[in-house]
Amino acid sequence: MVIPKAIQNLIESFERLPGVGPKTAQRLTFYLLHVPQEELNKFASSLQNLKESTVICSNCFMVDDKDPCGICADSQRDTSIICVVEQPLDVLALEKGKGYKGLYHVLHGKIDPLENIGPEEIYIPQLISRIINQKSKIREIILATNPTMEGEATAMYLRKELKNRDPKLKITRIGRGLPVGADLEYADDITLQRAMDGRSDY
Ligand SMILES: [Zn+2]
Repeated sequence: MVIPKAIQNLIESFERLPGVGPKTAQRLTFYLLHVPQEELNKFASSLQNLKESTVICSNCFMVDDKDPCGICADSQRDTSIICVVEQPLDVLALEKGKGYKGLYHVLHGKIDPLENIGPEEIYIPQLISRIINQKSKIREIILATNPTMEGEATAMYLRKELKNRDPKLKITRIGRGLPVGADLEYADDITLQRAMDGRSDY
């Protein structure tokens, strides 16, 4: 049997998503055939607006509906601390804890030689110039990349680059209590808060 083109197209779109295999892609597509047209239209317009209605903050590279983002624009935040994370989801996870009041820098990835992702492919040059430009105002850089092989490699690279430019810069690494190999976004609030509180010089 030949699958209608419209169905095949959607299956292929789902298959491109992370963690979705061919079976799940088919199941989702056939499920959507039973959903009322009105709901499908809403879904479609959410997809369409996803990128059109969001921007990346030009200071910290967080995703928000305005630039600068809500965190950078908040005068109550401590601008002397920058917490470096891999993904916007990590910011959301850390913000749930409510204990951290500094700023962030979202790399949108990690150094991964096997995938041909070097420092230039993620927001590392922007981080370095951000720190160099306001060196005297920065008290601490927290490296909160994931406790995975690539996350550790990214943290080590950043430490080396930053210390080369300013040997006195205080650099810390979170991690204590975080399960090795796991992503920050999956850690629970308490574990994350503990890892943040227990950060040590790096
Ligand atoms: Zn921002």
